[in-house]
Amino acid sequence: RTVYVNGEYLPEDQATVSIFDRGFLMADAVYEVVSVLDGKLLDFAGHMARLTRSLEALEMDNPLSEDEYLDAHRQLVERNGITDGLVYLQVSRGNPGDRDFAYPPKGTVPTTVMFTQAKPGLADAPAARTGWKIVSVEDQRWGRRDIKTVQLLYPSMAKMEAKARGADDAWLIEDGKVTEGTSNNAYIVKDGKIITRELSHDILHGITRAAVLRFAREAQMQVEERSFTLAEAQAAAEAFVTSASAFVMPVVEIDGTSVGGGKVGPVATRLREIYLEESRKTAI
Ligand code: PMP
Repeated sequence: RTVYVNGEYLPEDQATVSIFDRGFLMADAVYEVVSVLDGKLLDFAGHMARLTRSLEALEMDNPLSEDEYLDAHRQLVERNGITDGLVYLQVSRGNPGDRDFAYPPKGTVPTTVMFTQAKPGLADAPAARTGWKIVSVEDQRWGRRDIKTVQLLYPSMAKMEAKARGADDAWLIEDGKVTEGTSNNAYIVKDGKIITRELSHDILHGITRAAVLRFAREAQMQVEERSFTLAEAQAAAEAFVTSASAFVMPVVEIDGTSVGGGKVGPVATRLREIYLEESRKTAI
């Protein structure tokens, strides 16, 4: 595989980053994941906009222009022959020399890495037909989940707990309400209405979330942005999650209770179809 490191395209076994890099020492780094379908990038502009927001929130310089990111994404897709898969992009604050809690001075060159992962048949995941089982786990993450940092240990632990309990993913619970999944936004469908938590510092502002809500409203479906409890989700007609790589993924069980009779529901199915169809149209 060819990967990108600070302007260079290298075989993955020759790509290196300093052990003093603050991304490595302090999780002082942000990332994006863009899906690739038929060799094209989905929702690229949205991911770039969020990258800019994440960098600004951490007062980090943006090392590349949007055109340069686009060129690098396309080159990696091309060089690695990716038809379906993803491009991972990470920008860290770089290597200031000695380890220090204070940020290094402005002008420190960030470390930029990008690589691809092939995922043949990404859009036809069998799980989309059977749905995911979810378990609930207490949300113990920090308070700025809207910044897409690589500080992913707690979501990793929650994912491991979900697997140990025989589930596909965990929904994180704070003050009795669902915040989001370990790596996706959470939704329920009730009385025909699509309900998902409102945007705040408590959740990541999903790019897929924004697109799905826009398509839902355009299709005259009702949307309500508010938090919901686990009990409300268990009693809902449907539940689902969204993310750049899972698209719209139905949820059929929460903490052992079947949702929607344990079957994938019509709203999640339709939204998945609309999302895939519409985002393929604008893929670049
Ligand atoms: N929430 C969290 C915590 C995530 O990690 C992700 C995926 N990166 C999402 C939501 C979904 O965001 P997106 O649709 O932009 O992939």
